[in-house]
Amino acid sequence: MEAMETSTEDAKALRDINQRVFVNRSVTLENIKCYGFDMDYTLALYKSPDYESMGFELIRDRMVSIGYAHEILRYTYDPSFATRGLVVDTTYGNLLKVDSNGNILVCSHGFHFIKGDHIQTYYPNKFIQRDDTERFYILNTLFNLSETYLYACLVDFFTRCTRYTNLKKGFQHGDLFMSFRSMFQDVRDAMDFIHNNGILKERTIKYLDKYVIKDPNLPLLLSRIREVAKVFLATNSDFNYTEAIMKYLLESNVKPGAPKTPWRTFFDLVVVDTRKPLFFAEGTVLRQVDTDTGKLRIGTYTGELHHGTVYSGGSSDIICDLLGVKGKNILYVGDHIFGDILKSKKRQGWKTFLVVPELEKELQLWDEKKSLFEELKCLDLFLAELYKELDSGSESSREIGTIQTRMKVLTYRMDMSYGQMGSLLRSGSRQTLFASQLMRYADLYSSTCINLLRYPFNYLFMAPPVLMPHEAATQTSVEFTSSDPTVKNHAVTVTRN
Ligand SMILES: [Mg+2]
Repeated sequence: MEAMETSTEDAKALRDINQRVFVNRSVTLENIKCYGFDMDYTLALYKSPDYESMGFELIRDRMVSIGYAHEILRYTYDPSFATRGLVVDTTYGNLLKVDSNGNILVCSHGFHFIKGDHIQTYYPNKFIQRDDTERFYILNTLFNLSETYLYACLVDFFTRCTRYTNLKKGFQHGDLFMSFRSMFQDVRDAMDFIHNNGILKERTIKYLDKYVIKDPNLPLLLSRIREVAKVFLATNSDFNYTEAIMKYLLESNVKPGAPKTPWRTFFDLVVVDTRKPLFFAEGTVLRQVDTDTGKLRIGTYTGELHHGTVYSGGSSDIICDLLGVKGKNILYVGDHIFGDILKSKKRQGWKTFLVVPELEKELQLWDEKKSLFEELKCLDLFLAELYKELDSGSESSREIGTIQTRMKVLTYRMDMSYGQMGSLLRSGSRQTLFASQLMRYADLYSSTCINLLRYPFNYLFMAPPVLMPHEAATQTSVEFTSSDPTVKNHAVTVTRN
């Protein structure tokens, strides 16, 4: 508590890198009149890899029950394989890591990584048209990790299985053809099945301690926000599941002897079954939930907002009306880059906060492997230097093969320290599609929303200035003088190559 009340300078010194909120675009917290939260993987962080392992086993078993070979039961979940944001090519059965333009950074077929020129036998320009959503499917959420891994297991199994002949678009066994597309559809259907029939939720609720992280600071965060702004919960989960999870997070967290606060009182508005991203567009009918039975009232709710009432469906416009707030004064906190962040920013102009649970590990590895990245940067500069004196009349060429090989080795070593698919955010010096979407649509991001506790509610999150290449190309010397006499003058020399 004391630490929170110290001055900004001290707070900065105290703020550990893992407790920081990072800024893509400046946000003045003082202007935020309303905080919205997603639930799954945002307020409720699931324990990794136990939760993904459970999801994997449930869909794997479902695949066997619809007719896949029992041999696939031998596969168990490997958390070091997949990262979020991979793209499945349903035509060739490959998993791809791509940059923001669709250039391929990493390509695997089952567990076999396809290298260099061989990638061109599938993709002549080492590029995919990722708008082709019929063919390419982006595995955007943490829920997708288990199906990503299961799909790799299936491709691996059929490739090795002597009963099947390997073809470019699938596998043949007698008169049966298993296309990569149908296998992916089966995995997706199995995932939907375990979500819809309730088995995943039942297991989670039965073993809450095993699968859900209970952060003791969550009730404190929500109650502090409620002193200065409105708070709402908007989740795609249903009422019964939401109630079980939120009770666990907020009601069983109380210190012995302290009064128990019902979880719904932490929010001005609770909306379940939101069907994001549809919620940020036309939405669905807003209904009231009978909190005793979990059943929905028929008809559309048109009344006033009542504290503690739970609603189902609706849209972001309805939420703004009910709470009496404008989109620009809302900070929405979610983990889904598309359903939570991209849509709320693009369609409604909300301020956005992306929860990236992977960030803690990413930061730790970035710190450990910084020297590899520094060397990569130096080689980049060295290459530029080699070509500096040449112009269109030059005939001599430069021997750059060894530098390029070294750059590939460094990139590979960096990637491998994160996992088999490398980092969520980059491959060597190139950024992933996920990283580019994060920078474009999330105003703020952090490994957990609890980190909002580290900043006062009038804080100004300032974005660092980013130079365009032509601006960075000039050498400049800047003298910073402030007209405010209380601000110390600084002489800053900025040198750019
Ligand atoms: Mg979520």
